[in-house]
Amino acid sequence: MLFLNNWCDDEWAQRRLAAGTSEFDHDLADRVYTSQLIGRVPDLVMHGGGNTSCKTVTSNLFGEQVDVLCVKGSGWDLGTIEAAGLPAVNLEPLLRLRQLLKLSDEDMVNVQRANLLDSSSPNPSVETLLHAFLPHKFIDHTHSTPFLVLANLPDPEAAMREIFGEKLAIVPYVKPGFDLAKLAAKVHDESPQIEGLLLAKHGHFTWGDNAKQSYDRVIEHTNRVEVWLDQYRSQTTLQVQTPQLLDEQHFLQRLRGALEDCSGNTEAPVVFNLIQTEDALRFLDRDDVATLAKAGVSTPDHVIRIKPYPLLLELEDIKKSKNELIKLIEAYVSDYRSYFERCAKSSGIPKKMLSPRPKLIWAKGVGLIGVGGSAKEASVITDLAQQNIKVMADGADAGGFCPVQEQDLFDLEYWSLEQAKIGKSKPLAMQGRVVVITGGAGVIGQAIASVFLKVGAEIVLVDKNTDQLVAAQSKISPNITLLSIDVTLPEAPNRIFEDVTKRFGGFDILISNAGAAVQSSFEELDQKALRESFELNFFAHFSLAQAAFKIFKAQGVVGQILFNVSKQAVNPGKNFGAYGLPKSTLFFLIRQMALECGADGVRVNGVNADRIRSGLLNDKMIKERAKARGVDDASYLAGNLLKKEVEAHHVAEAFLALALSQRTTGHVMTVDGGNIEASLR
Ligand SMILES: [Zn+2]
Repeated sequence: MLFLNNWCDDEWAQRRLAAGTSEFDHDLADRVYTSQLIGRVPDLVMHGGGNTSCKTVTSNLFGEQVDVLCVKGSGWDLGTIEAAGLPAVNLEPLLRLRQLLKLSDEDMVNVQRANLLDSSSPNPSVETLLHAFLPHKFIDHTHSTPFLVLANLPDPEAAMREIFGEKLAIVPYVKPGFDLAKLAAKVHDESPQIEGLLLAKHGHFTWGDNAKQSYDRVIEHTNRVEVWLDQYRSQTTLQVQTPQLLDEQHFLQRLRGALEDCSGNTEAPVVFNLIQTEDALRFLDRDDVATLAKAGVSTPDHVIRIKPYPLLLELEDIKKSKNELIKLIEAYVSDYRSYFERCAKSSGIPKKMLSPRPKLIWAKGVGLIGVGGSAKEASVITDLAQQNIKVMADGADAGGFCPVQEQDLFDLEYWSLEQAKIGKSKPLAMQGRVVVITGGAGVIGQAIASVFLKVGAEIVLVDKNTDQLVAAQSKISPNITLLSIDVTLPEAPNRIFEDVTKRFGGFDILISNAGAAVQSSFEELDQKALRESFELNFFAHFSLAQAAFKIFKAQGVVGQILFNVSKQAVNPGKNFGAYGLPKSTLFFLIRQMALECGADGVRVNGVNADRIRSGLLNDKMIKERAKARGVDDASYLAGNLLKKEVEAHHVAEAFLALALSQRTTGHVMTVDGGNIEASLR
């Protein structure tokens, strides 16, 4: 598909006006504008890939004019970049570096930082020197999908000549940094009339006297390649074999368990991101998929996110047991270790091995599976994986996919600048753990979500009220998952866990929290109302817990179930029988389950809370109950031994404490500010 040119004169003019009046302000506004235009199209740049720059003039503290290079800073994404993401670096000291024969990456980063105009700016891109050495005012560098296909062909130069004639020149593959910058500048200087560079096995550079000219060339060049590639694409539609839904679910759960349990694993657990598009399934069905799985990645910096190779699983692997899947993962791990040892030896510098576990799994018939420490990481992996399979498929159809080879991949994966970051961040307590919270839109549900989110968990909020779920999400975080369903429906457990498995590959903690109070005296208690209360306050908990336990067993991940009980389970309040009866049954269920689930490593605990301001105990009810006791609202809420109101976050913190208590099961924790009548014995 062709790329649109999204330049708009009006928007350009408005941005300039808003930016200020100096030449520097205008240049930077133009630079931000077209960087965003490029960055918003995933097939032009993907996840922090690509970078842009402009050369301009500003004045220093003495009022002297200084030439600067404003270049993308690390940590910024082109799609959302602002002026602060394009730090200004003194140009002259950068240009002097070209005289050097050698420059280490560390020295390069240091010189770039030392010449920032604002010392609090982010690090300028590792491709800064390439931008500096090319003489043009505006420069755009992309890793677009069509250019990656071209860059990885067996003879990219011949194809480039066919498409562009003398307009572009090719730079042989060199790792990004000083050497690449020098080589690219040399290639440019030998044919200064060119409009751009094809970086073999890497990407595209183009430039212009102004932002528009450079941007127009990005689009025009990329479309030329796209048109050329289209003639080679096979248009066949294949019937792809896929497993039964239930087999697929169980496979994902076992696979996630296997990744956690493979031998020697000391890393945090993982979550999946599963891509099942037609393109992905058709790609995995190709005859040459096994060859492509060993081919490498389409642009070297992808190796940092997705590793050099995916783990390829065949259709028959889907039926395999967890232990058999562990063997397949261990075979991958052992191949990875050999790759590390082979390449580390030839690199001559001591290196620390990164996690040998696969980051990307190609599961035939199922899809592309990103394996991340968080849902966000997993989805970045599958975004890159999708771009990679497009490049591989197009490349294979147009002559071949020949990316950088092992040692070059290794040099990028084990780049000293990357190695320096290893081991600096410790995973959060719940990182990689998927937590399903029912009654998620309520006050307590939301508080639980917030507390678990802070320690790195992936959150799924389940509630029957869609509007309230959306409102909860806007309060907590856009990164939580919402599932709108009534937990009393017989199909609820299957639907919830099916959905969660598709999204994350499984889950680890069920917080069964949904409930509602029914008030009536014993004498007038209607059996129908009591049965309804049992449906929500006991049977829904029971069904979800039973289904969750079966999944925990299947995935072999140490799971947990936490119930929100109530002090009503042990300390009856007048006219609350219809609520207390199912809750006391639930209280018993915790003990029964703890007894029967412990051997499978599944812990079952609960929280007894009282007098929490929530949907269940709303302002009106607080007023009524306070009045009945002849006290004001605040004294009613603080009517406990500590004389302090108990809030939803206190309850949520108790859930987290139980979730982290690795040797506790069958326990119910009271959170009521102290009440001797309700204390457990
Ligand atoms: Zn690049």
